[in-house]
Amino acid sequence: MSPTPSTPAPLTILIVDDQSATRVALTAELDRVGHRVLEADSASWALELFRRYRPDIVLMDVEMPGQDGYWTAREMRAAEPGGWTPIIFLSQFNQAADVWKGIESGGDDYLVKPVSPMILHAKLRAMQRLAQMRQRLVKMSEELRTANAQLEKLSTVDALTGLMNRRALDARLQQELELARREAKPLTLVLCDVDHFKRYNDTAGHVAGDACLRRVAQLLKETCRRPSDCAGRYGGEEFALVLPNTPRSGAMTYARALIRTIELAAIPHPDSPTGASITLSGGITTCLPDESTSAEGLILRADDALYNAKSTGRNRFFSYEMQMDTEEQRRRTSAS
Ligand code: GH3
Ligand code: MG
Ligand code: MG
Ligand code: MG
Repeated sequence: MSPTPSTPAPLTILIVDDQSATRVALTAELDRVGHRVLEADSASWALELFRRYRPDIVLMDVEMPGQDGYWTAREMRAAEPGGWTPIIFLSQFNQAADVWKGIESGGDDYLVKPVSPMILHAKLRAMQRLAQMRQRLVKMSEELRTANAQLEKLSTVDALTGLMNRRALDARLQQELELARREAKPLTLVLCDVDHFKRYNDTAGHVAGDACLRRVAQLLKETCRRPSDCAGRYGGEEFALVLPNTPRSGAMTYARALIRTIELAAIPHPDSPTGASITLSGGITTCLPDESTSAEGLILRADDALYNAKSTGRNRFFSYEMQMDTEEQRRRTSAS
C-alpha cells in the first residue's frame, strides 16, 4: 500500500524519462497526492518544459537515447543562473560511482528505479524543505541589500535638504582635490552661510526656518550647472559648494551669479538688518593643488574668507586668494 503523505503542498514536478511505463507509474503516484505533473520523454523536450513552466522539482532519468540525464541537468542549471530547482536522478544503476556522477553533474539526490513511493515522497519532502529554506535565504538577502542601499543613502544625504551631507561633502572634496592635483586644474571651495538666520528662526519659527533652508538648498543646487559642480549642507545654516576646474575669477563670477539668484528668489526674511529678503555670505578659496594642499586647509581658508564677508557687511562673498569681496569687485568693474 502506498503511503499518503500528510497534507503535502502541491508541487509542479517535471518527470523526464524516455520510458513511458516509468512516467505513467510516477505520474499516477504524484497525481494521487495532488501534485501537478509535467512529462518529458527526451532531453530537448525536458529543457523546453523546464524553461516554460519552471517546475518546483525535476525527476530525471539518467539513461536516455541522445543527450542523457546528466547533460540535461547541467543545461537546466545553466538555464537558471542564481536559481536552484532540486533535481533528483532516477536510474536502474545503484553503483556508488553512478550516485557520485549524478551529484557531480548538478543533481541533488539519486533514486533507484523502480522507485518506492514511500521513498519518493520522503525525498520530495526533503527537497521541498531545502527549497523553502533557500527561498527564505534569497528573500532575506534581498531585504538586506535594500536595507544596505537605504543606509548608504542615509549616510550620504542630508535629511532636511536632500543635498549631500557633511560626510559626503568631505569625501567629494577629497576626491576632487586628488583629481585637480593629477590634472593640474584649479579647484574652488565655497562656504556659504545664511545671514542672520537666528533672527529668522526667532521671528518666523523653526518650521519656517527649515522650509527656508530647503529653499536655499534648492537654489544652490540649481546654480550647479556643470555636472562636476556640487552643493552640500555643511551643517546648520551653512552650505558648501565644490567647483572643480574653476579659477579665482570664475569663482567670483559664480558667487555674483549666486547672490543674484538669491536676490531674485526674494525669500522674505522677517527680521534681517541686511534687508527684507534672505541673503548669504560666502568664503571662497581657490587652489592649484600640489602635494601640500589638504582638504582641511581649504576649509580653513574658506572659513577665514567667510568670516571676512560677515564682518564687512554680509550679503557678499570674499575670496581668500584675491583678498577681495564681490562688492568690491562689482565697484571696480563698474568704475572701469
Ligand atoms: P550670521 O549672519 O552671523 O550667520 O548670523 P546667524 O544668526 O545666521 O548665525 P548664528 O550662528 O548665530 O545662528 C545660526 C542659526 O541657524 C541658529 C540656529 O537656530 C539656526 N539653525 C541651524 N540649523 C538649523 C536647522 O536645521 N533648522 C532651522 N530652522 N534652523 C537652524
Ligand atoms: Mg531511460
Ligand atoms: Mg553659521
Ligand atoms: Mg548664519
